[in-house]
Amino acid sequence: MEIVPIDTHLTAIDHDLMAVPGVGATYVVQGEAVALVETGTSLTVAATLAGLDELGIARDAVGHILCTHIHMDHAGGAGYLAVNLPRARVYIHRESIPHLADPSKLMPSARRAVGEAAWPLTGDMLPVPLERLHPAEDLRLDLGRGVCLEALPTPGHSPDHVSFWDRRSGGMFLGDAAGLSMPRHGLDFPVTPVPTYDLETHRATIEMLRKQDIGRLYLTHYGVHDDTDDKLRLALEQIEGLAEMVRAVLADGGAEAVDVAALAARYVPYPDDGPAALVARSWSQMSVAGMLRYLKKRQ
Ligand SMILES: [Zn+2]
Repeated sequence: MEIVPIDTHLTAIDHDLMAVPGVGATYVVQGEAVALVETGTSLTVAATLAGLDELGIARDAVGHILCTHIHMDHAGGAGYLAVNLPRARVYIHRESIPHLADPSKLMPSARRAVGEAAWPLTGDMLPVPLERLHPAEDLRLDLGRGVCLEALPTPGHSPDHVSFWDRRSGGMFLGDAAGLSMPRHGLDFPVTPVPTYDLETHRATIEMLRKQDIGRLYLTHYGVHDDTDDKLRLALEQIEGLAEMVRAVLADGGAEAVDVAALAARYVPYPDDGPAALVARSWSQMSVAGMLRYLKKRQ
């Protein structure tokens, strides 16, 4: 666990997602009230709580937990956090509220998406009591002292994806809306996962984001990025590039010809023995599979 100070009202807790530093963060936003953005998985909750302790934030002082979308590394820890932060409301897109209230249907689908190699690092889920769940997509959360979070729906990576403006800094918590960027690991690519990835919607979302005046990106994977325009343009190029690569193989030999692992290694080259090898492999394979599924549906 590492505390990363960002701004007077904003801190990141690196909670060692997938057991690697520099991969996943929960953001702590402090006005008079305290909000967390992103939960990590159930396996990162202990690190997040230790981070809150180190910041001197009492468990009952956290009023809000915001999830950008339903994937395990963004909302998987919600139930465990809700138990430990007894006064917090939990926000996620309306359509995903039933899955946080009863994760039993979500788990098998998440397991298929994540793959067996990475599944042990993905954790499990506790249900969040329905009365503590609130829709995120229209949220405007005034935390006091001029700190305000405001939702902006950003579907594509997943249909329920919502990003959050930090009005105080002019930055945005972007979740997975326009790709990950982990400088410590030299990884920089959009995740386009099974089973609900939608290329057309994703493209429209990134174009929409490019028209916003976003000062800084607060990425869940990972950290603060000031080169907003470059990041968004690169993400767009990369999803087109991946789509092209998968289309070419489909045109050549049909879906049976697609070797997901081989294509993933072309999409995200990363050494097999590197510290983030499992992250790179799992998320790139998920991306190829997601793009393949989307393109096959379109045929
Ligand atoms: Zn995701």
